[in-house]
Amino acid sequence: MSALDIDALVATFRARLAEADDPDALEALRRDYLGKKSPIKLALKGLRAVSAEDRPKVAQAIQAAQKQVEDELTAAREAVEARALAKRLDAEWMDLTMPGLATPRGARHPLTVVEDRVMAVMRQLGFALQDGPEVEHPYYNFDALNIPEHHPARDMQDTFWVDGGYVLRTHTTSVQARLLESRPALPVRVVSMGRVYRNEAVDATHTAMFHQFEGIWVDRGLTFAHLKGTLAFIARALYGDRPIRFKPKFYPYTEPSVGVDIQCGACAGAGRVDGHGCEACHGAGWVTILGSGMIHPKVFLEFGYDPAEVSGIAFGLGTTRMASQWAGVEKARKLYEQDLRVHQTLHRGAR
Ligand SMILES: [Zn+2]
Repeated sequence: MSALDIDALVATFRARLAEADDPDALEALRRDYLGKKSPIKLALKGLRAVSAEDRPKVAQAIQAAQKQVEDELTAAREAVEARALAKRLDAEWMDLTMPGLATPRGARHPLTVVEDRVMAVMRQLGFALQDGPEVEHPYYNFDALNIPEHHPARDMQDTFWVDGGYVLRTHTTSVQARLLESRPALPVRVVSMGRVYRNEAVDATHTAMFHQFEGIWVDRGLTFAHLKGTLAFIARALYGDRPIRFKPKFYPYTEPSVGVDIQCGACAGAGRVDGHGCEACHGAGWVTILGSGMIHPKVFLEFGYDPAEVSGIAFGLGTTRMASQWAGVEKARKLYEQDLRVHQTLHRGAR
């Protein structure tokens, strides 16, 4: 290999080196110019063929070229690595003095908050919590509660029937029927709460599953005055000074029956919100929060009590509607959706 060849070789190497900007390209260059079969190695091997006179000079030139290639490759590799490191540092840069990101804390579902609040009020009145099954025998859901076979509430359109003749309970009153059947000592003051099911079309104030809260108070000598006083206490404890009103109602398992309305919180009784009819109260300005009444004599007879001696009051609250009313949310079904912003609003409202 002549001096000219070596210069040409180094020139091509440099041209390729200028293009090589990643570790793979540099490695390919190293193989091509310093590998066993590279022109430089082959030229070193072929030195024997060079005349003894020229050999030292040629050898020196080849070795110089080899050293040059090695040095330039090393420098290029270091430059590539430095660039990669700089890029990574730039991308992964962080200010360790910055305050950390706040992780939002979990919170209880607004319905749970409402249920706990109601339960706290009921405890003040001496009520205890009673649990019961959600898949219920129709006897406890209907028959025992003066809702016989032909009653429209048992219609397929209102009730979810389950295999084996069972129903998804349509109210938590079934829990109280089970309790009364066990003939507990008087007085009885219990509440039951949880999910109930109705085969209903979903709109702003109706969902096929909702939460209910019910109580009974059974004793000797209870009158309608006990009922009214109890309901007024509950309404005031839960809603403060919002106006309330009583109105006659019909329920199969109470007689007489009464409904309690509070002024709508979403529209403050106006019936309209932002220029359209308030969906929370269907424009009425009032929302029924409680259904109640004196326990029907037939229910007492069913469980072997003498209705001439024993009386009782029963009441139920829709906790779903209560949560939406409490927080001033127009659409109750929002409670069952997974929009955290709504839940946060509700939490602020329920506090
Ligand atoms: Zn309203």
